[in-house]
Amino acid sequence: MTIPYNMAFACLDCRKSFKRQFNLSKECPSEMTCPNCAGIAHNFGRHFKAPKKTDSKQWKKIEFLFQHGFKFQKIRIGSGHHDVVNYPDTLEQAREFVVKYKNHAIS
Ligand SMILES: [Zn+2]
Repeated sequence: MTIPYNMAFACLDCRKSFKRQFNLSKECPSEMTCPNCAGIAHNFGRHFKAPKKTDSKQWKKIEFLFQHGFKFQKIRIGSGHHDVVNYPDTLEQAREFVVKYKNHAIS
């Protein structure tokens, strides 16, 4: 049985996000062509919530995290890896976050 699920893609140039439906049996691409500017929209996974287009502070934070290998993948720490780390709320927190969790970054 295949259950479709939504993946969020976001274009950092347009500051727009797009949902695409995939089946678990199918491999999900890490990027797609942005329907708005024909640039690259990156896969930010199932848990990504896009800020408002006008919220440039939040988009700067997302861009910063992305450049450091954090694409809203789940980061699990602790014994048994049951603790999920919350993503930072602000760019200031993100600067500490990328240092603290650099071992979890996706290259
Ligand atoms: Zn775009």
